[in-house]
Amino acid sequence: MIPNTPIYSTMLTQLASLVTTVSPEREQIPVCAPFTGQQIGPVPICQAEDVREALKRARMAQQAWAATPFAERRTIFLRYHDLLLRHQNDLLDLLQIEAGKARHHTVEEVLDTAINARYYADLAESALSPHRRAGVLPFLSQVWEYHHPVGVVGLISPWNYPLTMALSDALPALMAGNAVILKPSEETPFTALMGLQLLREAGLPTDLFQIVTGYGPDLGSHLIGAVDFIGFTGSTAVGRLVAQQAGQQLIKCSLELGGKNPMLVLDDADLGRAVTGTVHNCFSNAGQLCVSIERVYVQRGIYEPFVTRLVEQTQALRLSKMIGYQKDSMGSLASADQLSKVSQHVDDALAKGATLLTGGRARPDIGPYFYEPTILTDVTPDMLVYQEETFGPVVVIYPFDHVEDAIEWANDSEYGLNATIWSRDTHRARSIARRIQCGTVNINDSYPATWGAVDSPMGGMKQSGLSRRHGREGLLKYTESQTVARQRLLPLTPLPGLKLSHYAMLMTILVYLMKYLARLR
Ligand code: NAD
Repeated sequence: MIPNTPIYSTMLTQLASLVTTVSPEREQIPVCAPFTGQQIGPVPICQAEDVREALKRARMAQQAWAATPFAERRTIFLRYHDLLLRHQNDLLDLLQIEAGKARHHTVEEVLDTAINARYYADLAESALSPHRRAGVLPFLSQVWEYHHPVGVVGLISPWNYPLTMALSDALPALMAGNAVILKPSEETPFTALMGLQLLREAGLPTDLFQIVTGYGPDLGSHLIGAVDFIGFTGSTAVGRLVAQQAGQQLIKCSLELGGKNPMLVLDDADLGRAVTGTVHNCFSNAGQLCVSIERVYVQRGIYEPFVTRLVEQTQALRLSKMIGYQKDSMGSLASADQLSKVSQHVDDALAKGATLLTGGRARPDIGPYFYEPTILTDVTPDMLVYQEETFGPVVVIYPFDHVEDAIEWANDSEYGLNATIWSRDTHRARSIARRIQCGTVNINDSYPATWGAVDSPMGGMKQSGLSRRHGREGLLKYTESQTVARQRLLPLTPLPGLKLSHYAMLMTILVYLMKYLARLR
């Protein structure tokens, strides 16, 4: 579909009509295309009463859904998987228009959402069905572990991965038997709405997953106040506010937050693969990626050739606003705020003595928020770019002599989200990886290796988050676990007629016996 044509506007108007609101008269948010700065269409600014309405509908829908057999839920999710792939081009167009990405940086969003749909469709029944657990006393105690849906899950998502961040977290919450109310970023609501439309087309009950649109501080706060669980993805600063409110209400929350992600390039790395991987890891989605690399530590023996080739390959990237695939291209920053932050970090570093190897300029001649991919060296702790997340196409290179120093510097950050190590000695790389304080570490590849490993947990240590997405953890967090125990023959309270001291002795013997029984198994 072609942007800015009547047929495209009609499609966006239809998507906006999926927002849950009790009033057609709401004020509107103008959503703009970063490539041009032009408005593409409005969505309503939802209010507290819209959240209340969404909640009322969600509670009704959730009760029926929780009783829906896993096989039925699975069928809907697998249909959704296919619909996502079939409508890939429409989704990619919209992602490019709404988020200003190069097309090859958008494909992973659609694939990731489809992978999550398939993964949780297949996992849910085995992970959520009741399990027998060991009781206090063998044979005499019977114990079952149950997982109940928490009820209504609220999700708040950012603009940088508008499909993945909105939908991929909703999928396990739904599969676990919950209803979901999502507040996508005010900058990219249409992609989330298209994801919702396809999910309904796949057969998901209408009120089970709803979207409200609006600005973070107001609507976000109403949403957190209404739901039974809040899942937040965004900046660490806002994550703290979300956690505070969740703490006040004592509801569970998961927080997927920012990073200042390090990369280690060891002397024995495959130079070609390491350079290509670094370009991908630093400049995908113009560096607006939570798992993007912003600090690269390169061992002295490979430093000069690595930097030379990295600069060459970075300079070969073309800034482009083409809707469609274009080799070696990079898209726009998402907004004026993003441009201002990136420029501030680079200007501050240069004013304080950093060396610019390439980039360092905004490109308004291409589009209002374009910024060149940028490489800096000679960065020192007094510069903003040293510790703060830039969240743009800016990478700093540091040389090192000893791996121990590189590990220490990599860990010298309040964040702990993602890291990459390049070395031909993968055994050594794995032992280094375990010492890096990050939730995910990629060896000889960039972020898709860990991000795509949906069977394994993904998330941040330190100030990069609480809880995890993906894997069993990413499903079970949306449930309340419950233990039910039945005791037979010998009660766990003193027996009538038996002296307390004898009861204590009997239980002590049983506890000893259990130690030996456990070793016989
Ligand atoms: P942000 O924190 O400004 O906003 C994220 C969401 O929170 C938006 O929907 C926004 O409207 C809402 N919001 C804003 N203020 C709020 C408040 N007071 N209460 C409730 N909700 C509020 O983040 P952003 O600029 O949209 O995204 C960029 C950040 O997200 C970066 O720091 C990036 O690293 C992080 N991020 C992390 C992950 C991850 O998985 N760890 C993924 C993507 C992005």
